[in-house]
Amino acid sequence: MLSLHDIRFQYPGGAFCLALKTLEVRAGESLVILGPSGGGKTTLLRLMTGLLSPDSGEVICGETRLNRLSPEQRRRFRLEKAGLVFQDFALLDYLTVEENILLPSRFSPLSGTISAYARELADRLEIASHWRRRAAYLSQGERQRVAIARALAHRPQYVFADEPTASLDTGRRGLVMDLLLDYTQETQASLVMVTHDAELMPLFQKQLRVEDLTE
Ligand code: ADP
Ligand code: MG
Repeated sequence: MLSLHDIRFQYPGGAFCLALKTLEVRAGESLVILGPSGGGKTTLLRLMTGLLSPDSGEVICGETRLNRLSPEQRRRFRLEKAGLVFQDFALLDYLTVEENILLPSRFSPLSGTISAYARELADRLEIASHWRRRAAYLSQGERQRVAIARALAHRPQYVFADEPTASLDTGRRGLVMDLLLDYTQETQASLVMVTHDAELMPLFQKQLRVEDLTE
């Protein structure tokens, strides 16, 4: 289970202040964070994954208190337990689709089985035909789906996806939503997804609006 308690966070010198009393996402559960641009959705995801540390409060993933780990331990935690889909995809342009997808799991003890699963993900996301193409040559929608395959390839316990359908047409949006929700159900992972697409809201078991993030 992922849980947050009494979180407060402010960027240095910034006016933006995030406050969240309590939030829980259990195994097999999905949470959507919804709201307008600039509301703090990405900031909250960064806090949940230990990319940012709160000024006060706790982020707990299972037995792990993220804020008590060193930056190196947090990095390892993300590599092993978390799958992240960044808003800007964060692909390496000069690597192929295959290399991008497999890069974070290179050092995983599961690495033998990961590549077969990565192919399966690529098939399901309709990017398998680009497998050996460099990321630089893909469309935005294709890049977005590579980022999603990369996030799931090592079968993470926690999935954090920042607007993962923003560059997709309606058909592909359905494809991605089905995959993320099936994955969560089948592996009993916890899914946290950010979107400003209100139509997607009913697909999730829990909803958090950005308006709830400030006092
Ligand atoms: P959202 O993802 O909902 O669009 P963000 O979490 O990206 O919102 O941003 C929330 C607020 O924090 C905005 O006002 C933004 O300008 C500010 N902000 C985001 N990143 C930084 C940063 N690195 N330093 C200072 N302020 C930031
Ligand atoms: Mg954002």
